[in-house]
Amino acid sequence: MKRITGGNIDWVINSHFHFDHIAFNYLFEDADIYTHEMDKEALTSIYKFAQKYGAGNVFGDSWIIDLEEKLDSKNTHKHLNSFTFNMDLYRSIGSVDYTYTDRDIFRFGKEIAEVIHTPGHADSMCCFLFPRHSLLYVSDYNVLTDWGPWYGGDDSDIEMLLKSEERLKAVDAKFFLSAHDQKILTRNEFVTHLETFNSFIFERNTTIRNYVNEGMEFNELCDVGIFYKRKYFYIDWVKIWETVMLIKHLKWMNMDFLIPES
Ligand SMILES: [Zn+2]
Repeated sequence: MKRITGGNIDWVINSHFHFDHIAFNYLFEDADIYTHEMDKEALTSIYKFAQKYGAGNVFGDSWIIDLEEKLDSKNTHKHLNSFTFNMDLYRSIGSVDYTYTDRDIFRFGKEIAEVIHTPGHADSMCCFLFPRHSLLYVSDYNVLTDWGPWYGGDDSDIEMLLKSEERLKAVDAKFFLSAHDQKILTRNEFVTHLETFNSFIFERNTTIRNYVNEGMEFNELCDVGIFYKRKYFYIDWVKIWETVMLIKHLKWMNMDFLIPES
């Protein structure tokens, strides 16, 4: 892939540590990379990155060590699970220049961006308010998705996510733009879609409760495809996210007793 050298890109500001938000930092080789202070550790090593996602809790430390070895190997491309072992996804880890925190202000000439820390999806996740445009960048609060909120990292927290959404609603902004939705939303649209977005969380509670009432045990719940389609379970990361999200729900519903002790 072509590296982006020179040009006008001085800073790359990551909203949180997830693959799809940091993976191509490395292409901006002349830019300073900014990340929230809570992600500094995760972005220093693949081991800590995978731990933060919860890989160790699901597959054990040996899975992470194996991942590191495979990524180091020249034969990486020969491994079957191409998503998990795609080096491009990990190449940017280890290249943080500066950290930021809640309420910090970035100034780019006339433009200003204020950091709004909104933990839940990830503990570090931040949104950015551009007051000159009355625009709030809401990162992964991508309310137009037909999938619902994601909280599949060890650091994710459902209750905190709901609380952060309240903080977003209280921000004085007319327009809302997420990382994944292909549309800028008005405040009304954002607030309306947020309700549908959150309804997935409560539907998932119901689904899990029904399965438990049918007598399903933890391992079966992990395998039934509550969040992701089972056809994607061959990807180790998807299995990790599925399991972690299930654990979050069980804890939230005070059904921890179903989670086997590790
Ligand atoms: Zn994310």
